[in-house]
Amino acid sequence: MKPSAALGRIQPSATLAMTSRVFELKRQGVDVIGLGAGEPDFDTPEHVKEAGIRAIRDGKTKYTNVDGTPELKQAIVDKFARDNNLTYGTDQVTVNVGGKHTLFNAIVATVDPGDEVIVPAPYWVSYPDVVQFAGGTPVFVEAGVKQGYKLRPEQLEAAITPRTKWVILNSPSNPTGAAYSEAELKALGEVLARHPHVWVFADDMYEHIVYDGFTFRTIAEVCPELYERTLTVNGCSKAYAMTGWRIGFAGGAAWLIKAMAKLQSQSTSNPCSIAQAAAVAALTGPQDFLKERAAAFQSRRDLVVSMLNQATGIHCPRPEGAFYVYPDVSGLIGKTTPGGKAIASDEDLIGYFLDDARVAAVHGAAFGLSPAMRISYATSESALREACERIQTAAAALR
Ligand code: PLP
Repeated sequence: MKPSAALGRIQPSATLAMTSRVFELKRQGVDVIGLGAGEPDFDTPEHVKEAGIRAIRDGKTKYTNVDGTPELKQAIVDKFARDNNLTYGTDQVTVNVGGKHTLFNAIVATVDPGDEVIVPAPYWVSYPDVVQFAGGTPVFVEAGVKQGYKLRPEQLEAAITPRTKWVILNSPSNPTGAAYSEAELKALGEVLARHPHVWVFADDMYEHIVYDGFTFRTIAEVCPELYERTLTVNGCSKAYAMTGWRIGFAGGAAWLIKAMAKLQSQSTSNPCSIAQAAAVAALTGPQDFLKERAAAFQSRRDLVVSMLNQATGIHCPRPEGAFYVYPDVSGLIGKTTPGGKAIASDEDLIGYFLDDARVAAVHGAAFGLSPAMRISYATSESALREACERIQTAAAALR
């Protein structure tokens, strides 16, 4: 027995690998500051926890409908109407075991060998691997720091071929925090209007984490002509600090939702019944804390951007949302550490920061655009301040 060819086409998640490394170092008593994990440090809100506890007490501990309870599907329909001006029926929404599972279901249910999926780089680590697992080809389009890490309409036009099945848009973005304005989405929509065979995977996981009064919009909302061929993806993980509960969801064409449910019926079956009950409370309960949490993230962003820009050789743009920064570290490549090791890549740099500064970040190569690094600032201001000081000292020590 040996692993399958499909498995050979994917890599373990680089971000989860760094998270495990930090867990291990901490277990050994090492004073490491982990800025690698894509997880809010806030707790799941009390009323959401209570709904989960109540669900256990009320016996909601059995199988549910494969792709979501009627209550949760209705809550998702109402969420899309409330937040995104999108009208879906309950047969047009699906509930999955986290947003990653939504991606997996959508891609595996639609992509055949030879199909292409346009993935703007830098990208969330799972997009290319899931496409490759399905036998498809990710078509990377470089959206670098000079263009605000956003795909430009002419790049999209040039990347589309008759084999293009999907384009993935993630706004605000993991790993850069960049978010598309309404005008930018419309410009991309104009290109897509000319190519009716291309579908849009709109990953809005960080919708509620935006700054400086930025108005979040999703593409099916601003380009109604794309509604029929857009899968609008979201979840409870980031906004409601529910990463461990594993609830992702999406709205889209009824046939696609049905196809995803067919796949799910032969893999995970329903998402956890208790987590689904908690997700109903998250989506239908008070929403005002979302803004308060975004404000807390904003002051952390300001701190991190300012401190990283004071470090030698690091250029850190100010993102519109999410809880990541993606500084360009080209000014540090080619240098040598005090211990005499060459820094030839962003991976070398991340290794140096981990070993010498005890700060864990993730190298840009994992997200398809180097030399850079991703820093998650979903941690306390005191830890961020200390981490950035350590990075400043380590960067200054390079020769
Ligand atoms: N989409 C993006 C852009 C993400 O960053 C993540 C998580 O890191 C997800 C989707 C999936 O989230 P989860 O599977 O934890 O719900």
